[in-house]
Amino acid sequence: MKAAPEAQKRLLDLAELDSAADRLAHRRRTLPELAEIDEQSKRYAKLATEVIEAETEASDLAREQAKAESDVDTVRARADRDQKRLDSGAVTSPKDLAGLQSEIASLHRRQGDLEEVVLEIMERREAADSKVADLRAKRDELAATRTDAEDRRDAALAEIDKEAAEVQTRRAAVAGEIPADLLGLYGKLRDQYGVGAAMLRGGRCQGCKVALSIAEMNQIKAAPHDEVVRCEECRRILVRTAESGL
Ligand SMILES: [Zn+2]
Repeated sequence: MKAAPEAQKRLLDLAELDSAADRLAHRRRTLPELAEIDEQSKRYAKLATEVIEAETEASDLAREQAKAESDVDTVRARADRDQKRLDSGAVTSPKDLAGLQSEIASLHRRQGDLEEVVLEIMERREAADSKVADLRAKRDELAATRTDAEDRRDAALAEIDKEAAEVQTRRAAVAGEIPADLLGLYGKLRDQYGVGAAMLRGGRCQGCKVALSIAEMNQIKAAPHDEVVRCEECRRILVRTAESGL
């Protein structure tokens, strides 16, 4: 392939811009915020589940407490009713009176036991409520931390996008100065090897860093200036400049 030496030299600018684009793409994929957010999302999901479990436990206890309180009320109402009957003087038979008093005493004991149960549930409920509050606070704190990481990620991505757009603009301008066939070859090599062109500097290919043999150097020296030469080692287009050592 033939191409003006100036056009060949522009390939080096193009290769530099393509490397810059590659570096930006790499930065985009490996932003530390991405791993951070991923980790935080996993922790958030775990905490959210723990919050739901704690909330369920707390509401179960609230229901249990309401039930126990209603049991206390029922027993108390029965004791009050019996007490009223006793106080009314309507019951006169000593046997009935004794029976009624015994029932009242038994109801009071029962009420006492049930009140113990209510107190015990209330204590458990207090602990459960405080666990809910604690977990919710942790969850909300983590959500805020994650939002912060997301903001930093978005800012970093916006910066990368801006730089990438600038690189693309400059690349388009440089590519416009390179003949289509040379550009096509460069593109094919870039797809294959990652970098399409490299400078020959001091007898060494700057793409693969391999020094050319004397025979290869002689061959290149003999080639016309507009001949597109390639590195035998890495197959990249070898661009000759004043620093080539020819
Ligand atoms: Zn090479």
